[in-house]
Amino acid sequence: MANHLLIKNGHVIDPANRLDAQCDVLILDGKVSEVGRLNGGVEKTVSRVIDATNKLVVPGLIDIHVHFREPGDEEEETIASGSTAAVAAGFTSVVCMPNTNPAIESETDVEYVHRKGRQTRKTHVYVMGAITKKREGAELAEMGLMAEAGARGFTDDGNGLQNAAVMQRALKYAKMFDVVVAQHCQDNCYAGSGVMNAGYHSTILGLPGMDAMAEEAMLWRDIQLVRKTGGRYHAQHISTAGSVELIRQAKKDSLPVSCEVTPHHLLLTDECCSTYDTNYKVSPPLRAQKDTEALKQAIADGLVDALASDHAPHLQSEKELEFLAAPFGIASLECA
Ligand SMILES: [Zn+2]
Ligand SMILES: [Zn+2]
Repeated sequence: MANHLLIKNGHVIDPANRLDAQCDVLILDGKVSEVGRLNGGVEKTVSRVIDATNKLVVPGLIDIHVHFREPGDEEEETIASGSTAAVAAGFTSVVCMPNTNPAIESETDVEYVHRKGRQTRKTHVYVMGAITKKREGAELAEMGLMAEAGARGFTDDGNGLQNAAVMQRALKYAKMFDVVVAQHCQDNCYAGSGVMNAGYHSTILGLPGMDAMAEEAMLWRDIQLVRKTGGRYHAQHISTAGSVELIRQAKKDSLPVSCEVTPHHLLLTDECCSTYDTNYKVSPPLRAQKDTEALKQAIADGLVDALASDHAPHLQSEKELEFLAAPFGIASLECA
């Protein structure tokens, strides 16, 4: 009876076992023992019963894009606090981004994050390595050694990798090590000093806008580099209707391209910035209604490989700055 748990009447979704039905889950000593319509007598044999009527019961969720700020900015988030938030939201595996301080750019950095993750004993904590040293976009980091140490891929996230020649080299290396290069698609020249989506609302608010083209131009360029090199490529947090069409074509061409979408880009629009609430200042920015509709359609069409939170917490004092000065990012793990 000890540690035996019955979750009854839940809507159980388990893609690995092709299960999508209302049923019960019996857990004995921490392990799933039976899934199905169990008879009422089972209740008397367990120590705890959870009535999951009108609730979803799913396997541990995986978030492939979080910022846990350790090492360097532990006042914002640590691997321990981030893991606690992840578990509270049902995530049992997370992939940390390497834009820490210093950046994750060596095998010892990768091992550091893994060790910290193991010490928290909450979620599986994985990490991506930086593509370039200090995420400066100039010189490749030790991708091979980091891959051997278990880095789940490479990205300069927080920055888009501007230099096409460096990206081409990274994709060639990625192919050699059979790892993925992930990109925060943002052409800095085109994005300029934008702090929100360029459009009707940025004009009304008098805030500098970031045009959809800043994302789409880089995504288009990278897809051509994938075509040339055959390296695996993942477009992080795509946010525009144009990006959806680029991904659609890349997949039609059978290129090794995948993409993710965040819940905030699916559910919120740039109208949220109307109150100058800096919690809505994210990168890429919240877009227009037509973009959220295109992202939803992309999910319905099976084009989106993952939903990812891009959980990016900052200090409250930083987010209390005016919209122009506040940092980009939304703390979203627990509401994902
Ligand atoms: Zn990013
Ligand atoms: Zn990010």
